[in-house]
Amino acid sequence: MEIAFKKIAKEVLNFELLNENMKLSGAVFRKSPDLVLLKADMFGQVSHICDRCGNELSLEINEPLEIFLSDGIYKGEIDKIDVVEFYGGVIDFNEILQSEIESIKSGYHYCSKCKN
Ligand SMILES: [Zn+2]
Repeated sequence: MEIAFKKIAKEVLNFELLNENMKLSGAVFRKSPDLVLLKADMFGQVSHICDRCGNELSLEINEPLEIFLSDGIYKGEIDKIDVVEFYGGVIDFNEILQSEIESIKSGYHYCSKCKN
């Protein structure tokens, strides 16, 4: 799912994205000429491998997201770590969801056996 930056105004634009067992639901609105703010909730299940024993497990995800989206390279004053840059004038919501899932998976997760 993609939305062009120029279509996003100060009025809130709601969106909902379903991808396999995950859902990203929230809103985007324009914060400044080159910046859009996304506020959303990400929830669902993602399969993962236990970082201790290697068994497959299902991660329950329920995370609020607040990310700045920049139309091109961001040169403003907000910490770059909170800004995702898009090139080509469109916001790719699948890419946002995928990168958030990857960042959750990059942490350590243990199956129920290994937790106890
Ligand atoms: Zn385990």
